[in-house]
Amino acid sequence: MNAPDPVVASPMPHVMNTYGRLPVALSHGQGCWVWDTRGRRYLDGLAGIAVSTLGHNHPKLVPALQDQVSKIIHSSNYYEVPLQETLAARLCELSGLDSVFFCSTGLEANEAALKLARKFGHDRGIERPEVIVYERAFHGRSIATLSATGNPKVQAGFGPLVEGFVRVPMNDLAAIEAVAKSNPHVVAIFLETIQGEGGINPSRADYLQGLRAICDRQNWLLMLDEVQCGIGRTGKWFAHQWAGIRPDVMPLAKGLGSGVPIGAVVTGPRAARIFGPGNHGTTFGGNPLAMRAGVETLKIMVEDGLLENAAARGAQLRQAFETQFAGLAGVKEIRGAGLMIGIELDRPCGALLQRAADAGLMISVTADSVIRLLPPLILTAAEADEIVRILVPLVKAFLADPKA
Ligand SMILES: *Cc1c(COP(=O)(O)O)cnc(C)c1O
Repeated sequence: MNAPDPVVASPMPHVMNTYGRLPVALSHGQGCWVWDTRGRRYLDGLAGIAVSTLGHNHPKLVPALQDQVSKIIHSSNYYEVPLQETLAARLCELSGLDSVFFCSTGLEANEAALKLARKFGHDRGIERPEVIVYERAFHGRSIATLSATGNPKVQAGFGPLVEGFVRVPMNDLAAIEAVAKSNPHVVAIFLETIQGEGGINPSRADYLQGLRAICDRQNWLLMLDEVQCGIGRTGKWFAHQWAGIRPDVMPLAKGLGSGVPIGAVVTGPRAARIFGPGNHGTTFGGNPLAMRAGVETLKIMVEDGLLENAAARGAQLRQAFETQFAGLAGVKEIRGAGLMIGIELDRPCGALLQRAADAGLMISVTADSVIRLLPPLILTAAEADEIVRILVPLVKAFLADPKA
């Protein structure tokens, strides 16, 4: 990311400096387009990091949220919240799972998953439960979730880390079997179905099927972090559905509220009754505004055919990039599923963020050298073409630049 310039005063001097930010302030959006405060228009290839599922100012979502705001925004988990049951029932129907805990962010959903795993172990008499986690994983920035994260940059400065994690490489069943043989404390496997921050790294279908079989044999929980890859982004409701398996625990967040903060942990029969009253909670989780956003997002996704669209636009983009970058040595690999696409270059490419913004396109770069596209699921074929039209020459010029 761009290092802050020490000479130029920050335009936000009272906001803690936790992000390398582009000097752009977005004021409003429409569909897949956003405008900054200077009136410049950008095509949104990022959706606020896989959040704005329905793009901006969606004609069905906005009136529904306005209606909800005028009725009740927050009540409390001290009372029944009927919209929680509506959204939970829908998530269970879509996933084939049984029970949902609501929170407000991805890391909270993952914290709940880790607490479920630990109590699952304690309930079985395992005093020091351990969870298998992955190289290059990203699960959030709380102390427990950064400990589960497989990125030393996220952990640096925040030790002592939470214990109880065993780390393995992706897509390597032999590594899991080795842990199963040697470690009787393991209670769960925890991974992103497709790693997001780690560089858009998909788990193979046969690997996920193998994990399912091992978890059944060992009586472990299979916990799939679908915070980034879930909610239709890959062309199915949840990315693991491509492998025909079901997890025991599935944290969700980002795209579920199409911009309204929301998190959820969806659990199958093995994990649905681990928590009882007093075991876990959150003040904001499950508030009526967030629940309405979730209910409406899922409903509009069906009405507008957004799963099919995510698959089709994703295929269109992948094919265009494969063709346009064919034979270009600096492009190492194009990866992903649906509208979750990574283009790995042979060098760090954070400089492309500003260049793309200057050309009217919002993208992200993750794992230093992977261009990441996570556009709204309402992306049209013409807008997908426009992403290609802007991005391809930028990448070619960047790779041809001897200073890059
Ligand atoms: C973004 C993300 C998180 C963290 O979500 P927050 O809402 O930022 O706490 C966790 N897991 C994955 C896979 C993510 O992409």
